[in-house]
Amino acid sequence: MPSPIIALQSISRVFDSGPQPIHALSGITLQIAGGEFVALSGPSGSGKSTLLNILGLADRPTSGSMLLSGKVVDFSAEATLTALRRNSIGYIFQYFNLLPAMSALENVTMMALLSGMQHEGAYEKSRAQLLAVGLGARLHHRPGQLSGGEMQRVAICRALVHAPALILADEPTGNLDSTNGAAVLDLIRSQISADRAVVMATHSAEAAGYATRSLLMHDGKIVS
Ligand code: ADP
Ligand code: MG
Repeated sequence: MPSPIIALQSISRVFDSGPQPIHALSGITLQIAGGEFVALSGPSGSGKSTLLNILGLADRPTSGSMLLSGKVVDFSAEATLTALRRNSIGYIFQYFNLLPAMSALENVTMMALLSGMQHEGAYEKSRAQLLAVGLGARLHHRPGQLSGGEMQRVAICRALVHAPALILADEPTGNLDSTNGAAVLDLIRSQISADRAVVMATHSAEAAGYATRSLLMHDGKIVS
């Protein structure tokens, strides 16, 4: 049995900034295997983004432990976290988060370079990735010259170019019409393989329908 891509044990996250602590996540225990496409649903404020941020190593839990591809994540080791983020995780956002001054190809190539690919390889891989999602005629367009659906496909290429084991998507279709949303979900689903998992937060029942497993969150807990 290969180890799961993700194993969370009793993960909690408390925000202490306000007058009283907010328990954004309370005792999340969860395993996600390669080949899974997990949808996280639940009302606004239930902890979906907080959970994705921890899975993406962008935030650290207040307590609990996490294994990524069988290895314990040391949330205090900043350099290791950065390397893991650049090699093992691809992140897709609701508002795409592309760099506006860079072309589609540059946005993707930058991620490839950050992950350690050599210049020529990074460029070729990025170009191939964009061609594969039908953006061959948009390589040199900047985000402002692209439609929402095209921007999200560029962002997906950026999330895939370094072949991460874990793809995280926070409301990836939240800013798209239903046709472009469906195309983006098809594309995300097509990227799942035995050694890769996808976790997607979504408000949309339609989007959750693409998943192989659906988790419902409420008040920082997984309730079903
Ligand atoms: P969701 O994505 O399901 O809408 P979030 O994970 O964004 O929920 O938020 C969960 C709870 O944690 C909410 O009560 C939210 O206000 C709170 N929260 C999220 N991020 C922070 C933060 N950086 N500081 C303080 N509270 C936060
Ligand atoms: Mg959210």
